[in-house]
Amino acid sequence: MRDQHYDILFEPVQIGPHRTRNRFYQVPHCTGMGYRYPNAEARHRGVKAEGGWGVISTQETEIHPTSDLSPANEARLWSDEDIPALQLMTEQVHEGGALAAIQLAHNGHHSPNMYSRMAPLAPSDTPVDWGNQVQARAMDLADIKTFRKWHVDAAKRAKRAGFDIVYVYAGHDMTLLQHFLLQRHNKRTDEYGGTFENRLRLFREVIDDTKDAVGDSCAIAVRLAVDELMGPMGLRHDHEGRDILAALGEVPDLWDVNLSNWSNDSQTARFANEGYQEDYTKFVKAMTSKPVVGVGRYTSPDTMVRLVKEGHLDLIGAARPSIADPFLPTKIETGRIDDIRECIGCNICVTGDNSNVPMRCTQNPSVGEEFRRGWHPDIIPSAKSAESFLIIGGGPAGLEAGMTLSKGGHDVSIAEKDNRWGGRVSREAALPGLASWGRVRDWRMMHLKQAANAQLYLESTMTADDVLTSEAKHIVLATGAEWRRDGFGKHHRMRLDFLDHHAVLTPDDVMTHGLDSAADGPVVIFDDDGYYMGSVMAELAAASGRQVSFVMPNAVVAPWTDLTLEQSRIQTRLIELGVHIIPLHGLEDFDGTALTIGCTYSGRTQKLDASAVITVTSRKPDTTLWDAVMARKDEFADLGIASVDRIGDGHNPGLIAHAVYAGHEYAQAYLSDAPDLFHRTDIAKISQ
Ligand code: ADP
Ligand code: SF4
Repeated sequence: MRDQHYDILFEPVQIGPHRTRNRFYQVPHCTGMGYRYPNAEARHRGVKAEGGWGVISTQETEIHPTSDLSPANEARLWSDEDIPALQLMTEQVHEGGALAAIQLAHNGHHSPNMYSRMAPLAPSDTPVDWGNQVQARAMDLADIKTFRKWHVDAAKRAKRAGFDIVYVYAGHDMTLLQHFLLQRHNKRTDEYGGTFENRLRLFREVIDDTKDAVGDSCAIAVRLAVDELMGPMGLRHDHEGRDILAALGEVPDLWDVNLSNWSNDSQTARFANEGYQEDYTKFVKAMTSKPVVGVGRYTSPDTMVRLVKEGHLDLIGAARPSIADPFLPTKIETGRIDDIRECIGCNICVTGDNSNVPMRCTQNPSVGEEFRRGWHPDIIPSAKSAESFLIIGGGPAGLEAGMTLSKGGHDVSIAEKDNRWGGRVSREAALPGLASWGRVRDWRMMHLKQAANAQLYLESTMTADDVLTSEAKHIVLATGAEWRRDGFGKHHRMRLDFLDHHAVLTPDDVMTHGLDSAADGPVVIFDDDGYYMGSVMAELAAASGRQVSFVMPNAVVAPWTDLTLEQSRIQTRLIELGVHIIPLHGLEDFDGTALTIGCTYSGRTQKLDASAVITVTSRKPDTTLWDAVMARKDEFADLGIASVDRIGDGHNPGLIAHAVYAGHEYAQAYLSDAPDLFHRTDIAKISQ
């Protein structure tokens, strides 16, 4: 079963009055399910308990209507009425054999209070930092006393809801307790402001209060940002971050340490490697005898062993790795190391929460669907009887569909015209900073190669004839999409004839041939897509030593990456590479050497030298084969074809996460007996 080398990861750890079953700790993380979807939230956490995590925590849990994050959908414990929803979670977590933790939070001037309409609270008068044109008011001493009582009341409710670990939270630049700690937010002149000891006072008091209130049966955890990566303007791990540990090291039962703000804590693979927090958090163990948990997108069990052996961490914290693979601990325990579905560090999970909807995950399509659709991350339903499936296209949609169908017992053939698997994932993983995206392909291929009921064919371009004579009962096209070269997109809702020029390239051209096909000279990227591709093209072009301009109708580079927490990093990177950024412009004309662009407000035009223009606008589904097959629909019945469908980018282009989801959804439709209310209307259209 388990390799002895990993035994250390399965040692219990004492946290206050509780003992974990191992060192795997799902730190607090948002899900977008929160108080509005309590059953979905509970099932999501329950599945992880089943998957072997020792501790499972809630997301941040608002303790009072003055901490109202609406329209965000976090956890809520404003009154006794909120206890049953959270109890759903503690019951499932306990059933799975894990400890349940709750991250109590008062969000101070980060709470817009748009639902409760109460005045936000802060150490000093200050604007609320998002969502509402309102200021937080400075708390007086009576307010501070009342706030302490709210926290105690919430801790008592948490205990009644069945939680084993109660958090005091000062992190992510999002909580009142951190706001009191920070000079840039705390301008008070009384005993709660000014000196370090004064700014620490409320934090210390609330930890003590919480211990007094529930410490007999609950462990008290502290979540602390030890560094904010902003120099003297913020906490630093070698300055006040360390002083906090020196002052309070022995007070709580557990230290959960990380970086602030959220974009520093949850860095993507494009900007940071596994273990990126270690330099900042490794000092903590020396400052306390209490257990320490930390994060860093850890998916490698060997790295986890090293962290414990080196005395860096006692508990391996994980948010994203636990989302991508809720069964990570069980897989290590049962010797299924190769089967770990590693997080790719894309932060699509974060986009769900940031959009106030149940999160989704590129790697794990069951995320957010554990309750609603009953999908499980590790258990695939069995087919009643094996049927034959032909899948055309070996990108993320085709591979996920094929893998899931074969796990469920169906016979699967996958035909791919390219000489390698992975489709867009393989092409994009070769771009700067995106190598880890190849994990989407690798994990699925590992399963498919081991499956006796899966036949895999590379370099097999399928025609309608091939499809119709394949003798497969079910046929699904996962043929992908191509970037358009005509400028059509969100901004230009029409084809731009002047782009019909050999000096116009698409990301597909660049991914296939590099920039070699373009004449030497300045390159202009026109990005109307707004996600990562435009900026990655700019990085590539800059690396070739050319002068690069980045033209966009948007006000900032890659605006959608606000949701993945990458926007400021991407824009900073382009600035540092010397890319000339021109916001709020569309395309007007191109003659092969000069590109005319127009201001989206005034219509004023200007000319840019351009020996090549890379347009990143939108994608066109590849429907060639679909059209040819559907033209022969009348032959299906005689040939024994029961269904023909299309999924993924060939159906409607989107994220890699969408393609994986579509592949999974397709497979589930042929595995599960249960009527599925959410069944896509166009699945199995031929058989109906
Ligand atoms: P998705 O994201 O939907 O999985 P991709 O673009 O990543 O889409 O993958 C689609 C795959 O389908 C590509 O690898 C492409 O080479 C393959 N493909 C497209 N048309 C055919 C065809 N006629 N026969 C075989 N493979 C095809
Ligand atoms: Fe990891 Fe991406 Fe899944 Fe988030 S969405 S858990 S970053 S693979």
